[in-house]
Amino acid sequence: MGQKNLLERDSAVIWHPFTQSGIEQPMLEVARAKGASLFLSSGQEVLDGISSWWCNLHGHGHPAIIAAATKQLETLDHVLFAGCTHEPAVELAEQLLPSLPGDLTKVFYSDNGSTAVEVALKMAIQWWFNRGQERNTIIALEDSYHGDTFGAMAAGARGLFTKPFDQMLFDVRRISTAGSNSDLEQLESLCSSGTVAAFIFEPLVQGAGGMLMYDAVALNRYVDICKKYGVLCIADEVMTGFGRTGPLFASSVLTQAPDLICLSKGLTNGSVPLAVTACSEDIFQGFIANDYSRTFFHGHTFTGNPVAAAIALASLSISLSDDCDRARKRINAAHKSCAAILRDIPRVSSARVTGTILAFDIIDTDNKGYISSIKNTAMKFFLQHGILLRPLGNIVYCMPPYCTTDAELGRMHEWMVNFAKNL
Ligand code: PLP
Repeated sequence: MGQKNLLERDSAVIWHPFTQSGIEQPMLEVARAKGASLFLSSGQEVLDGISSWWCNLHGHGHPAIIAAATKQLETLDHVLFAGCTHEPAVELAEQLLPSLPGDLTKVFYSDNGSTAVEVALKMAIQWWFNRGQERNTIIALEDSYHGDTFGAMAAGARGLFTKPFDQMLFDVRRISTAGSNSDLEQLESLCSSGTVAAFIFEPLVQGAGGMLMYDAVALNRYVDICKKYGVLCIADEVMTGFGRTGPLFASSVLTQAPDLICLSKGLTNGSVPLAVTACSEDIFQGFIANDYSRTFFHGHTFTGNPVAAAIALASLSISLSDDCDRARKRINAAHKSCAAILRDIPRVSSARVTGTILAFDIIDTDNKGYISSIKNTAMKFFLQHGILLRPLGNIVYCMPPYCTTDAELGRMHEWMVNFAKNL
């Protein structure tokens, strides 16, 4: 029997995420990556137009990230984070906290966006519990996505992804991003009931919900109402963090800063898993006691992994550089020019840009949302032209690494326009 190729070996042993193996196209065999490019084992170069699930900010194989990882692996690879500490975890918290909006003073590490959200939700509920108040209601935005673990799923919108579990998910009250008078009244009445623990939101852009962009006016009003009644505000910046929407953190546009911020994805430039839930001193102090009754009994094996923290430090330093700021502005300007062209194409609606994210809807009469056939048609088309894009159903978006050159970006824009025109 001849040797099996990688795809045959893959389909024999691998279950891929968000994938219906019964119908989807074969996997791409990615051999290596550099900068904004993925190199397939066929030799084809493919531009990573979605930053490898929104996390590869500064490009693949970045020398500073490789150097930080190598040095840290040689020094301390991993140690449990209960009862132990180490330089990279402390330094990362020291450097990250001052760059976050508001006055957050403590960092709790976990592994991914979903766990960052779980931690924030659990902290909020237990913070009230420790004060002797049973506040169990969570408020979230319509169309939100906060991850795939149970608490994160509960906070996210219900639909195709959550259907088998809906009966098991705790109830969440929802408001729209529109900020209408009725939204404001509803929120005020919920918050004044004294039962709400926290309000969780993706600031400025709701990613998986369809790259839905909204301005800060309504969100500011919502946060003001929450603050008035002591409801904790959780900014889920898992996708928006580290400059994606323009400012370093999207929630910095708010007049009142959040009490908790969730980070992951760009935190390590997507090189290794790591997440942060940052919180205010007031929240941290709510867990301090002379016995174990108020303890936050939560943790993950890889919490505060030193290699991940060292990589995150390297990535943060690049994110904070003037070069990176200029690159983000350059991408934003080019996206805006492309959106102007897209707006004139009949099959396109809502061409929109926030920061380095460009998105548009392909008008789809079938209205099938995430499982619209447009997704696979588009992926195939873009791949033929050397670009990796992964539309959310009929919503096409581009979220490239900040190192993407003008020529590379021009290619992505050209083929997006071409796709929309020739559908
Ligand atoms: N929160 C937001 C806003 C996200 O966009 C995502 C993932 O896309 C998550 C949480 C979950 O992150 P992860 O996939 O790392 O669990």
